Amino acid sequence: MKILITDDEPHNRLLMEKILSPYGRCDLVVNGKEALEACEMALMDGEPYDLICLDIMMPEMDGQEALRLIRELEQSHNIDETEEAVIFMVTALNTEEHVVQAFFRGGCTDYLAKPVTRDKVVGKMRQYNLIEE
Ligand SMILES: [Mg+2]
Repeated sequence: MKILITDDEPHNRLLMEKILSPYGRCDLVVNGKEALEACEMALMDGEPYDLICLDIMMPEMDGQEALRLIRELEQSHNIDETEEAVIFMVTALNTEEHVVQAFFRGGCTDYLAKPVTRDKVVGKMRQYNLIEE
């Protein structure tokens, strides 16, 4: 499995890497712009990401914008809904319901509320058939 972790805070990136590295190769980037570039390269190489985790608040390009552009990128590469990446938005605990709904309209698979824990991440991965058990 190929995984992209996107977060501007080093501590959060490392935490996600620690949780996810047993399940596949993890690439780490610091903002939405870098996430989009990584996705584009992966698609061009014919090895797209299976799982993308997007923090919401990031400089340069935030998670919501990156979500929208990554889904557009997949469409331009003729990736259909059965093949598209699982995308988890990583939200602050107090994120308003209407913001969360906007993520779903933007094409996210689901969201993870901070603080992120191993149980939460692994539970969601099971839910979307990224791992068995
Ligand atoms: Mg952030």
